[in-house]
Amino acid sequence: MSRYLSRRFDGLEEYIPGEQPQDRTYIKLNTNESPYPPSPGVLAAVNTAEVARLNLYSDPDARILTQALAAQYGVEPEHVFLSNGSDDILNFCFLAFCDGGAMFPEVTYGFYPVYAALHGVAYETPPLRPDLSIDPADYCSAGRTVVLANPNAQTGLALPLSDIERIVQSNPDHVMVIDEAYVDFGAESAVELTRQYDNLLVVQTFSKSRSLAGARLGFAIGPAALIADLNRLKFSTNPYNLNRLTQLAGAAALAEQAYYDENCRRIRETRARTRQALLDLGFTCTDSRANFLLASSPAIPGGELYRRLKDRGVLVRHFTDPKIENHVRITIGAPDEMEALLAAVRAILG
Ligand code: PMP
Repeated sequence: MSRYLSRRFDGLEEYIPGEQPQDRTYIKLNTNESPYPPSPGVLAAVNTAEVARLNLYSDPDARILTQALAAQYGVEPEHVFLSNGSDDILNFCFLAFCDGGAMFPEVTYGFYPVYAALHGVAYETPPLRPDLSIDPADYCSAGRTVVLANPNAQTGLALPLSDIERIVQSNPDHVMVIDEAYVDFGAESAVELTRQYDNLLVVQTFSKSRSLAGARLGFAIGPAALIADLNRLKFSTNPYNLNRLTQLAGAAALAEQAYYDENCRRIRETRARTRQALLDLGFTCTDSRANFLLASSPAIPGGELYRRLKDRGVLVRHFTDPKIENHVRITIGAPDEMEALLAAVRAILG
């Protein structure tokens, strides 16, 4: 830290993203990317002729992509906000809507407390139940901005829409942000509810189910006034934060939704098979609705399993959070990758 950094960032602890190692080739099951490439139309859209136009700025309103998303989700374009990954949108949410403080679960996406600290937002973190599920009652009448990942990060457990509605109804004076990064792998989306509640914002991403993590594309759907607030902040920081190639890739991906639906189906199938195999090996495993499993074995601590899998070329994620330190989080990869993971686990457990 230099002596020039603003004092308000003295204690700021930054988010540590999952490893993207360059030292060797790993079976990479640590950052919840899709194992499948973008659809053919995306590859065709991001072509040499478009690269040659990179001397020009992108459309700051991303009109083509915004209209395509609005059509796909059955809303008007003024209900859609786009930004550079859903991380960017969550950052804007903490900046925009948290004057009265925030509330999110003690175990969830690790970026929430970082954004809160960055923007000086006080927050409460209700504990999970012993089975790692969220108790919706903790968030009813919270009296502050509620941020819930659904399915929840790290556990993959999802709340039904009826619980989301109960929470949003009970907090009419604060925004509720539902982070649906993993919703396409088997949870109920709250997009429909954004028509009825002026305080509900749904955030999604192209990084997981749509195979575009490297393109950095996130979107929010919600009431026009909340979308206008987010645009006010975006146009006060970086209006061109969606580059030309990402806008083209996103629109092309939406035109080939069936390809991504089929990939989600394959991932759900692989998830079920992998979960059963882990249960057969004596693991406990959450009933995840996301593209990852949170698993723990009585035979080996989570940190050790992570290290020994890494030695064998299989990268999973380990968290030091006491509630889940005995677990590893395993992204659902292609079937052969999961076979390699299971073979490595069997070898480690002897
Ligand atoms: N929300 C959750 C719950 C996540 O796990 C992630 C991915 N790390 C994100 C948001 C951010 O995704 P992206 O910025 O790639 O859209």
